[in-house]
Amino acid sequence: MKFIKTFIVLLIITGIALGVYVFYDYQNVLKESAPIQTLTFNDVEISYKNASVEYHILNGLIPIKRDFQNLNQANLISTNIVNTLSALETDQIEITYPDGTIQNVVGVSQINLEENGTYLFKLLRTQDKTNYQFEFSVDVESRPTISISNQNPVQGELLIVEINNIPLNSQIDIDNHFRPSAIIQKDYKARFYLPMAYREAAKVYPLTLSINNQTYNYEIDVKTYVFKEIHFTVSASVSSSTVGNNDAVTQYRETIYPLYETFETEEYWEGNFIKPVEGARISSTFGEMRFVNNAKTPSRHAGIDYAIKCGTEVLASNAGKVEYAGFLTMIGNTIVIDHGLGLKTFYEHMEDITITQGDMVEKGQLIGHVGTTGYSTGCHLHFQAMVKNQSINPEFLYKITE
Ligand SMILES: [Zn+2]
Repeated sequence: MKFIKTFIVLLIITGIALGVYVFYDYQNVLKESAPIQTLTFNDVEISYKNASVEYHILNGLIPIKRDFQNLNQANLISTNIVNTLSALETDQIEITYPDGTIQNVVGVSQINLEENGTYLFKLLRTQDKTNYQFEFSVDVESRPTISISNQNPVQGELLIVEINNIPLNSQIDIDNHFRPSAIIQKDYKARFYLPMAYREAAKVYPLTLSINNQTYNYEIDVKTYVFKEIHFTVSASVSSSTVGNNDAVTQYRETIYPLYETFETEEYWEGNFIKPVEGARISSTFGEMRFVNNAKTPSRHAGIDYAIKCGTEVLASNAGKVEYAGFLTMIGNTIVIDHGLGLKTFYEHMEDITITQGDMVEKGQLIGHVGTTGYSTGCHLHFQAMVKNQSINPEFLYKITE
């Protein structure tokens, strides 16, 4: 009997001790703030919507659920499709996408936020035998960012338009007076070129981009470029065998015109374009108005003529794919390089050609030599740059810094 009494007393004492310990630790938990370490999303520190803590004690589990009063609801506007969520390496994060899809990641992760809406994040963290669970939500409204290389260009300038932060395989439509190049879309970005036709009036032209049915309106204020006038004579024999020769004209049209519609789907060029010949004199400028043999209306010179002795090396102005290399009665030995998306350079009247159609060439690579073949009155290289059927001033390509 005495033994049982002693046992009960011991049991009561143990129970009280246990209760005191539990209470003590419970107090500790309540005194502690959640061990929040900086957790960043889209480079912004996030706050938690709610948090709960599970505390292990006496080999058992005493769940303590608690809403932390000072935790605000996370409500961030994201501007980047791909975000980095930074957490501890051991943190388990469950992401619920707006469409209900669930993904589990650990630690630092790249998260794609292509779809606008609310993303729910559950962070499970185990630290010092304690499980912490935090929840936060992020409201995402992704918008594209659009950059136009110059909204005040001059006639004959080439604009580069870059669109960032768009979902993969976006629907992009361009509405502009001028004909844009093909569009390349890659890694949440898109790019295309917009040539300012040199023969079109200098005035304000609207540019409307439609990206996944959202429209973005811009104005391109095209300024006047002063084109030179030149009067000169060409002998009847040169004219009659080229511009006055129907067969030569037909051959030229059948070979060159189809190239206005073709394009490479990759961008091969990089940085500024280079002059295709070094140390030459410019004998005819871009867009020059030529009054040949006292003609009443001028013909326009769509490229730059570099006069220099025959045999001078001709270099590829930038990297690209040789789309045409051959002889045409009208313009002599000719090379056409597609640098990507249909941005092309033309090299005409050459003495010879040292590369082959289909070759990939590097910037500065030897492609042939200066000559005076075709409709030409002396040793020179006719160098021309085009997007589709619109010629652009190569001088602007030399200045590209990207
Ligand atoms: Zn020329």
